[in-house]
Amino acid sequence: MIADTDFTYVIDFDGTVTTNDISSELAAYYGGTTYNEIEEKYRRREIPIKEWLRQIVKVLPPDLKSLLSKSLLWAEIRPGFNDFLDHAREMKSTIVIASDGFGFYIEPILDQFNLLEKIDFVYRNDTIISEEGTLKIINPHAHTICPVCGNCKASHVLKSKKAGKPVIYVGDGSNDRFGAFWSDLIWARDRLAEACKKHHIYYSPWNDFYDIIKLEKPVLKDCSDHSLCLPDGRGIKEKYAME
Ligand SMILES: [Mg+2]
Repeated sequence: MIADTDFTYVIDFDGTVTTNDISSELAAYYGGTTYNEIEEKYRRREIPIKEWLRQIVKVLPPDLKSLLSKSLLWAEIRPGFNDFLDHAREMKSTIVIASDGFGFYIEPILDQFNLLEKIDFVYRNDTIISEEGTLKIINPHAHTICPVCGNCKASHVLKSKKAGKPVIYVGDGSNDRFGAFWSDLIWARDRLAEACKKHHIYYSPWNDFYDIIKLEKPVLKDCSDHSLCLPDGRGIKEKYAME
């Protein structure tokens, strides 16, 4: 983490930085009913996101160039993001993007909108062409044994907190709950907001990044009781395994 900052924003990408979920849109475009079946299993919590990625990548064509050009064409940045990044810099905060999508399009999209240079760290999965010529997902930031997330967002949150820098989490998806519940302040919309309600976790609802500019600086909190996983331990807490 950057040494002279006071706190950290950990920000989801699809459906958060972008108004649309590009991984899901690519999967739906190429996968049709197969995508629907895998998505249903994920929504019923029968498979975790890591398995969703592994299954879904098989419906995509092994052509990263055309996948990237579609991603660049479809990406819509949520209003206020550029102003928010300038504000975050003035507030002496570190900006971390943490994504559990296909990952390969994140830096090119940010670059396309002249936003990449304002981001400190991007933690993401990678989608590559294997030696057999098929697409494969690589999870460089996954927990060593936890089967749930492709990218352990909770570990990125904890890394900042251990350095004494509290975390503001910004997200929209149900899988954001693992990182968000370790964070000191949560901005949640859509399925992350539903997860916060379900687990009685305090959050602020948000619509665009102009909302997030308004918030005060966070203070460090002990979130170990209500977090759903232990990034430094065995990962997901057993009682929340597929909840
Ligand atoms: Mg999302």
